[in-house]
Amino acid sequence: MLLLPQNIRIFRYDSLKASHVFVLQICRDIVAALCSSKGKKHKKFLAHDQGNSFVFTLFDQLGYLASREQMARIIAVFNQAGGVAKTTVTQNLGYHLARRNHKVLLIDMDPQSSLTTFMGLDPHEIEMSLFEVLVKEKPLHILENVLDMDFSPTNTDLSAAEIQLVNEDLREFRLKSAIEPVQDEYDFILIDCPPSLGLLSYLSLVAATHILVPIETEFKAFNGTEKVLETIARVRSKANRKLKIAGFVPTRHDARKTQNIRCLGAIQEQIADIAPIFPPIPNTTNFPNAAEARLPLALYDPKQKSALNSLEQLADAMEKLS
Ligand code: ADP
Ligand code: MG
Repeated sequence: MLLLPQNIRIFRYDSLKASHVFVLQICRDIVAALCSSKGKKHKKFLAHDQGNSFVFTLFDQLGYLASREQMARIIAVFNQAGGVAKTTVTQNLGYHLARRNHKVLLIDMDPQSSLTTFMGLDPHEIEMSLFEVLVKEKPLHILENVLDMDFSPTNTDLSAAEIQLVNEDLREFRLKSAIEPVQDEYDFILIDCPPSLGLLSYLSLVAATHILVPIETEFKAFNGTEKVLETIARVRSKANRKLKIAGFVPTRHDARKTQNIRCLGAIQEQIADIAPIFPPIPNTTNFPNAAEARLPLALYDPKQKSALNSLEQLADAMEKLS
């Protein structure tokens, strides 16, 4: 990211150090690239070189946009198993990224609407869900500034989408197409996937740049990892060649239980060569309590050091994704 003094709009070359002039010239190139790659949308960031000075309109927003241009990441939080903390990870990771001043959008792709509920909304009162977006090709319905994030909610109507889309052309790209018009506005878009290998998960993985896989440190949950990897391979070979695995997050980990310890060891031993294994998120009733209070853990109980530390490390890793 280019760190330049803000609120300065006119730069006289003769009053600047050579290094500043150099940086400004790089800025001008970025503006030119943005304008040519995105068309009219970014014209308001146009800069003028006036011979002896350089006028930058909305200069501070330019730096912001330029950094986003390199960093827009669409992360599908996916595991076909239910109850492994997908929704919990989506909401809490999103919040940790948002409080680092990233612009975050959460999308609830699960007809069970847990994320919509966790975010403090009543799914029955949602006027437009992802059903309209996917089936009727309406624009993504985005509520602004819910717990410092933007949020696209859903309700049980979405469960009908799989059947309605069966005979539709290019159905696998419906979520991707809905996200495309807004994706430049965000640093991170997190998609909370349903607990299935069905079409809604498939659409999420087609729309994503990365996949993040929560795995409960229980024997049964770890056994399902093979299916997750098969699904990723299928999506890559058919519709999203560039999909990357961001990593695996061991969840609901109880360090007092021998099975949890054995399972964490197996995860680290057997799949670490596929993608990073992030620090385990400890099992604590504070997560369901926070969800019941419709809050991320960091707001519900900032004293939960161990769990919050794992989430912070996860946020660090997401910032470094390429
Ligand atoms: P999924 O989206 O994979 O179905 P959820 O995020 O809804 O899973 O989590 C299932 C249940 O487990 C919820 O009640 C949630 O509050 C709880 N939970 C999630 N993470 C933890 C954790 N680290 N410790 C204890 N309970 C957790
Ligand atoms: Mg869920």
